[in-house]
Amino acid sequence: MNATRRGSLLATVVATFAMIFTLLLPAQSASAATLPAWPNMTQGTSGPNVTSAQYLLRYHGYNISADGNFGPGTADAVRQFQTAKGIGVDGQIGPQTWSKLIVSVQRYNNNEAVKGAQVQLNRYGYNLTVDGDFGGGTHNAAVAFQTAQGLENNGIIGPMTWQALVGGTPGGGGGTPGFSLPLAKSALPRGEYDDPHHDYPAIDLPVNNVPAYAMVSGTAYRINDGATTGCGYGVKIFKDGVEYQYCHFSGWSVSDGQAVTAGQQLGTTGNTGNSTGPHLHIAIKINGVKRCPQNFLLALYDGVTPPAPTSLPTTGCFY
Ligand SMILES: [Zn+2]
Repeated sequence: MNATRRGSLLATVVATFAMIFTLLLPAQSASAATLPAWPNMTQGTSGPNVTSAQYLLRYHGYNISADGNFGPGTADAVRQFQTAKGIGVDGQIGPQTWSKLIVSVQRYNNNEAVKGAQVQLNRYGYNLTVDGDFGGGTHNAAVAFQTAQGLENNGIIGPMTWQALVGGTPGGGGGTPGFSLPLAKSALPRGEYDDPHHDYPAIDLPVNNVPAYAMVSGTAYRINDGATTGCGYGVKIFKDGVEYQYCHFSGWSVSDGQAVTAGQQLGTTGNTGNSTGPHLHIAIKINGVKRCPQNFLLALYDGVTPPAPTSLPTTGCFY
């Protein structure tokens, strides 16, 4: 074989491998494709994502206050950071800047980036003290979050976990703005959300010891029927005259009368009250009349706007 033919054979082999790699790539990045997009934040944005970015800027040496308000000082720090990193300088925090800002944090770290991660975990209801100390509580919250999101649950907050935290909607529901599934989407298959109840309009979801989230934003009240009767330890959220009831928690994550946002953790599911096994009982009531929650929950699972509670049937979802 002469040199030219050997060269063309080599080119064929290289082209074949390139083709194989191209074919393999979509499969390899399949899990990354399920991550939410990084949020875009500009001057004037406020909230916990801004607070986390500010803590990350502090980690990188920019002495700004982490107050959750994207003001001129934060924008100035972002421009300096972008200049230092050699990326586009626009004073805004989008995907490229986020991916440069985040740092991997894990157990025994103690720094400003950990505070940023703790702020994020608290968005999902883990109630951590934002002290920068990555101790056992933060580790357990990170593992629980990763498990709920279907991520590798090693407690290390690396790029994928950061993106899931910052870009995600608390509750892991279908993603309809203003609503959340009451459980992480990974907790149960869709088929569990259309089951009839045993004797009146409601639903029993077979889970144990997982976070339960607010389906809507409203005012949350604790239900305390004690460990062995009625609803046990539960929560009811009132919004626009509709009551969203949760029963049989092992514990609460909200105080009585607390304003909650959709996706915020209300408590941990369990087996308290009149219950023959661990499950989450959910009921939707209007003026004391129980409505079938199945179609509401299925819409949340599917990520579409749920039907108005007043349109939910009062019969046909029990036996
Ligand atoms: Zn029930």
